[in-house]
Amino acid sequence: MLRVESISRRYDTQEALKKTSFSLKEGETMVITGPSGSGKTTLLRIVAGLDLPDTGEVYLRGELISRPGWAAQPHTRNMGFVFQRSTLWPHMTVGQNILYGMHRLDISAAEERMRHLLAEAGLENFERRYPSQLSGGEARRVEILRALAPQPEIMLMDEPLTNLDPENSERLLHFIKENIYEKDRCLIYVTHDRSEAEELSSNPLVMEGGQLR
Ligand code: ADP
Ligand code: MG
Repeated sequence: MLRVESISRRYDTQEALKKTSFSLKEGETMVITGPSGSGKTTLLRIVAGLDLPDTGEVYLRGELISRPGWAAQPHTRNMGFVFQRSTLWPHMTVGQNILYGMHRLDISAAEERMRHLLAEAGLENFERRYPSQLSGGEARRVEILRALAPQPEIMLMDEPLTNLDPENSERLLHFIKENIYEKDRCLIYVTHDRSEAEELSSNPLVMEGGQLR
């Protein structure tokens, strides 16, 4: 499904990624842990098409999607992203945020899916609220629903529990386990927290100094 081949990324003098390679089969989950500054976010940004590698290539279903100097646009990759910082549109309601990624469906099918997702997440009365009217945990759930809405083949999650209190973290982790794991969806989940990583995978990979171990 996804093949990352020997990608490196340097920022000025900082070598954020050093010849990192891995591949993911259909439906596979990869959990990456490792200290802050080890290159985890850089790796996800390159997989997402938000940043370019200095060396190496990324392939999706055998098709080249990133190489030095060129990358297929993020929205063409059939990937869902949840990053550390909220990217909900503040001027759109929860419902509109979730509909945003589903422009390929007709509007009534998209609305039906949006309401179904909200109900699954225990947020059925939240459709008309704005992001500023949500708690941290609710906003994070909406963010995940928006990423899931277009049925991406690959979900990328970068420290999705950031800034949540322990109780909300635990609920959200449970929500992720229940909703993201589907047999035909890949997940790459990144966290600096080793115990969180171990809850999601029996053998998380460790990123250190820009390399996966
Ligand atoms: P992690 O997500 O594991 O904390 P990052 O991938 O964010 O690590 O960062 C890896 C290294 O690259 C760090 O040393 C960081 O300071 C550096 N870095 C990341 N993004 C930038 C940037 N836009 N400009 C300069 N340095 C960066
Ligand atoms: Mg990071």
